Amino acid sequence: MLDARLGAVLGYVEGEVLLDVGSDHAHLPIEAVRQGKVSSAICGEVVEGPFKSTTRNIAAEGMTGQIEARFGSGLQVVSEGEIVDTVSICGMGGPLIAEILKEGLHRLANKPRLVLQANIHTYPIRKVLAGSGYRIIDETVIQDGHHFYEIIVAEAGEVEYDEQSLTFGPVLLEKREAAFIEKLQRELSHQEKILKNLLENSNDAKKIKEVSLKVEQLKEVLIK
Ligand code: SAM
Repeated sequence: MLDARLGAVLGYVEGEVLLDVGSDHAHLPIEAVRQGKVSSAICGEVVEGPFKSTTRNIAAEGMTGQIEARFGSGLQVVSEGEIVDTVSICGMGGPLIAEILKEGLHRLANKPRLVLQANIHTYPIRKVLAGSGYRIIDETVIQDGHHFYEIIVAEAGEVEYDEQSLTFGPVLLEKREAAFIEKLQRELSHQEKILKNLLENSNDAKKIKEVSLKVEQLKEVLIK
């Protein structure tokens, strides 16, 4: 049974083969194969401890015939010409996901669907996608207790995004889901507190300008 975050990611998985980068416990690929969302999966993991838990859990589920664990960084676990249909990269910060895409997207010759779930800072992910022949086809925010998780789904396509779309998400801006609005309201009150503190206790004009801009950007989206 997946939690709300990975359950939402699973909803976007499609095709024959799933590649899950940074698989750790391998819960997502195990459930994707169990539910018949894909017929096989590859788990990539670059740290030894999590890699052991990947292999252990695949074996415990009796799925070694359908799910292969590969030790390696990012998309380097894909060999030349190998076809995967969905690539998931979940549970990491946006900058790390963006780095993995930047370094490895060229290896994915058939341009598979990408399902990317970031914990923070999604701007760099959208920037890399737009510069790599990918367009965002869906986005959602999952709220689990105090945590907000963003999911970005992209497929092959050409598109340019303005700064507001890169920052907040072109589809999220359109959909205006309750969890997205709640996330931005939380962020706004956090940034307003920082700004108040800076104005009262600091002479750092650059920082004040930077935080004021963030506050303005958030208000612009929320006021619509
Ligand atoms: N994907 C799972 C999830 O969403 O629940 C596990 C997330 S866990 C917080 C992040 C995992 O990514 C860790 O196991 C870490 O070792 C792995 N990781 C970090 N950088 C990686 C990279 N460049 N290539 C492969 N795995 C990586």
